[in-house]
Amino acid sequence: MTRTDTPPAPAPAGASFSTLPLAKAQLANLATLGYHAMTPVQAASLPLALAGDDLIVQAQTGSGKTAAFALALLAKLRLDGQTQPFAVQALVLCPTRELADQVTTEIRRLARSEDNVKTLTLCGGVPLRNQTESLKHGAHVVVGTPGRVLDHLDRGALTLSALTTLVLDEADRMLDMGFFDDIARLAKLCPKNRQTLLFSATYPEGIAKLAQQFLRAPKEVKVRSQVDAAQIEQRFYEVRENERLHAVALLLQHFRPASTLAFCNTKQQCRDLADVLRAQGFAALALHGELEQRERDQVLIQFANRSCSVLVATDVAARGLDIAQLEAVINVDTTPDAPLHIHRIGRTGRADAKGLALSLASLDEMGSVGKIELVQGAEVKWYPLAELTPTPGGRLLPPMVTLQIVGGRKEKIRPGDVLGALTGEAGFAASQIGKINVNEFSTYVAVDRQIAEQALQALSAGKVKGKKVKVRLIQE
Ligand code: AMP
Repeated sequence: MTRTDTPPAPAPAGASFSTLPLAKAQLANLATLGYHAMTPVQAASLPLALAGDDLIVQAQTGSGKTAAFALALLAKLRLDGQTQPFAVQALVLCPTRELADQVTTEIRRLARSEDNVKTLTLCGGVPLRNQTESLKHGAHVVVGTPGRVLDHLDRGALTLSALTTLVLDEADRMLDMGFFDDIARLAKLCPKNRQTLLFSATYPEGIAKLAQQFLRAPKEVKVRSQVDAAQIEQRFYEVRENERLHAVALLLQHFRPASTLAFCNTKQQCRDLADVLRAQGFAALALHGELEQRERDQVLIQFANRSCSVLVATDVAARGLDIAQLEAVINVDTTPDAPLHIHRIGRTGRADAKGLALSLASLDEMGSVGKIELVQGAEVKWYPLAELTPTPGGRLLPPMVTLQIVGGRKEKIRPGDVLGALTGEAGFAASQIGKINVNEFSTYVAVDRQIAEQALQALSAGKVKGKKVKVRLIQE
């Protein structure tokens, strides 16, 4: 057999598992589990792990990291009896029993393509004796917490002489829990020519120390989360279907964002939400495919000039919308299209501003939330609805109000003419005047809410471009 020295290239995230050197039966198994494309962590680490490299992988729960190491260790198992039958060939160390149970479940699911892979969990809190009995029957894979695994080694119930893979899962948490010395002892009891895969969400100093002592020329795999948590604060709230629209009002009263884009999955939901919010005194407008062009323009102008607090939109209607200063995005419905979720929330937290992305999800939508976690490479954080209390400050009102002047490009009106009329004779400060949009037949000017009435009167009484004009205030 010839050996090539070309390192395996990382697969692109979203690539199919069939690009990996996996057995046909495993590919079929993955398809039945609904794993069609690799998550970013899997795409970056599996080609290297399957090639036998030691790895330090930065990954969080929810990123698909378990399958990343499970597929690698399962692919190496010798089930043909050439090794000592049932000798432990892979050991996964976890910080807690809960995690060990989850990891065991995932390994068993992924091991279904083979006939007889035995996976055993060894954690504290369960009598040693039962575990010792199970060990007597043999296991190919052991998943456990460091203390309990050491107990079995010390008693001679477990040997690691046939081990080929050692996985340290959530290594940073294991160090936090004071397991450094236990891990060091365990690693020394493993054969030297093993593969070691270290997974950690963060890189405290201890991780470098572990890696230096127990990994061989490890490759580092870092997957940048698709969502920069420093830039966008994401919060998820579980809702029942009948409280969803009201929950949006609670979010608005609690966080009081000056401008919010609220995404709904359907036009009907958009209309319903805008109605509910308006009935509660919010300045909310709906943007959906059924608006006439003129109506759509007016809605967009009011939202962009900050005289509408909430724009409720479907994804299709919001396409191409580019609005600076969007303080919050609310996912009224969780989208089943995970990349679209990332796109939605990416509309807030632009430039230097920090954004808020609030998502409502019912039990029926938990599958979609799971997909979002995989795509963004991190678990979502849940917050209780009950924590939302109205922040004092009265009704949430937009900072500006829109005045519509009859007359536009046809009358050769330019923004400067309107600004001049307001800051000149009328005597308003330029800082009190917002965006000015000149359309074909109409001109829209945003003015500070405090001066709305006076500005309306001044414009109606005065002249724009030497002519009297009709002006009206657009009520949200
Ligand atoms: P983990 O980060 O390992 O806790 O995985 C999070 C969840 O994603 C688990 O429920 C896995 O079963 C699931 N999962 C892992 N990889 C994939 C994939 N490629 N496609 C779909 N689901 C996956």
